[in-house]
Amino acid sequence: MLDNLTQRLAKVVKTMRGEARLTETNTAEMLREVRLALLEADVALPAVREFIAKVKEKALGEDVISSLTPGQALVGVVQRELAALMGADLGAAASQLNFATQPPAIILMAGLQGVGKTTSVGKLAKFLRENHKKKVLTVSADVYRPAAIAQLQSVTEQVGADFFPSHSTDKPVDIALAALDFAKKHHHDVLIIDTAGRLGIDAAMMEEIAAVHTAVKPIETLFVVDAMVGQDAVNSARAFHDALPLTGIILTKLDGDSRGGAALSVRHITGVPIKFSGVSEKMDGLEAFDASRMANRILG
Ligand code: GDP
Repeated sequence: MLDNLTQRLAKVVKTMRGEARLTETNTAEMLREVRLALLEADVALPAVREFIAKVKEKALGEDVISSLTPGQALVGVVQRELAALMGADLGAAASQLNFATQPPAIILMAGLQGVGKTTSVGKLAKFLRENHKKKVLTVSADVYRPAAIAQLQSVTEQVGADFFPSHSTDKPVDIALAALDFAKKHHHDVLIIDTAGRLGIDAAMMEEIAAVHTAVKPIETLFVVDAMVGQDAVNSARAFHDALPLTGIILTKLDGDSRGGAALSVRHITGVPIKFSGVSEKMDGLEAFDASRMANRILG
């Protein structure tokens, strides 16, 4: 079991009783513990460095209220900054999808294979139907795995949304355009496009999804990433961020036992808000992302 950060810092500050300020010396020692906690949570090093620098700047010279120890005061700064970095200031707004367009609002899903894209399409369709009363159409542009198309059909039917069938002989761009045409004719409010994911990053896959993006100009492009993957999230986030103008992130598998450091790394690289968390395999396992809760979880 990892010590929680408050306990860790309590050990460090035992030696600094009576200090009423966060100083260069006491802060530096405590920040070493914060850095370790973040690395243990699998946050990527560049994100850790940037975060520590920001906390240091905020903490130095901060008066410690008499009821707090310097350790508690620093934990406060760390928690606040971490939550802010992950979008706490955005509040519920971070989870709002943008529908300010001529219907259908198109949502393009991007991410590696196995991260939970197709499952998240189903969850999102259910969420939009139930919470926003939207008429939703889904389509799969994964022409490499017929099983992926069947899986999307199954989750779509499960949540009572409409499914546009595609065939593995079609081209992804043609599939997306045909689905868009269908959605317009049948007055769908939202079209969610699931895309192929490879096990690793692959130039052809990036070109393909970029071509779909150019063809249909989605209002939301959501990068789906698995909270369990830790450091690997960095490479895929960078590749998708370089290839596509992402508008948000869905962080899946937060019901697992990872500390979720990927959240901070991915946010650091893409700069876009984490809009939703996946918290189970079931169709109701999608929640608005809670930045403060995530901050506490990462800190252990
Ligand atoms: P895709 O290849 O990205 O489309 O991934 P899938 O949607 O097929 O999901 C891969 C596996 O992850 C499936 O077994 C899903 O049930 C599972 N999965 C997806 N999202 C979650 C989640 O939030 N929590 C858990 N525990 N499992 C999930």
